[in-house]
Amino acid sequence: MSLLEPPSFASFADLEREALVCTKCPLAATRTQVVFGVGDPHADLLFVGEGPGEQEDRTGEPFVGRAGRLLTSLIEGIGMTREQVYIANVVKCRPPGNRDPLPVEIDTCRPYLEAQVEFIDPRVVVTLGNFATKLLLATKDGITRLRGREFPFRDRAVLIPAFHPSAVLRNGGPALAQARADFVTIKRALAQRATAS
Ligand code: URA
Repeated sequence: MSLLEPPSFASFADLEREALVCTKCPLAATRTQVVFGVGDPHADLLFVGEGPGEQEDRTGEPFVGRAGRLLTSLIEGIGMTREQVYIANVVKCRPPGNRDPLPVEIDTCRPYLEAQVEFIDPRVVVTLGNFATKLLLATKDGITRLRGREFPFRDRAVLIPAFHPSAVLRNGGPALAQARADFVTIKRALAQRATAS
């Protein structure tokens, strides 16, 4: 996949405005609202999850439910806040009943994520779980094999796959220890590449 094409949106605000009224796939019919993303649009660190759940659909903000609270605590565990990073998802609308997003939904929504990546121009991208990892790394390998490793991404960035926080909640202790270890890797990668002064 090419993430190197210039964004076809004039600005990040334009991109968000367009995404918020999107009706390009069937998820538009069942969503409460589009969950575009949250955080600093100039962040060095970008997290990409799978898609909004029930609470995100209701509030319009990604990762605000139980998994979101875990993500927030992992971010704070490396000395950062949600406001200092950017958090987005592969699909911007909730799949009904929290089912997996369908290939057609991922393909239709992908230009929004690609444009977010272009505008934000992060130094470290963390893909949370299989959907984001498979999409952005263009791989068929699973998260268990890939997590915690650094992959070159775009010109000057790295991509680090990590377990999805929902999977960490499901799997308990050892998965939480692995997630914490991955966040140490994330912090180190960021320290090597951060642009913020
Ligand atoms: N899970 C995700 O992948 N994204 C969210 O925003 C919330 C839960």
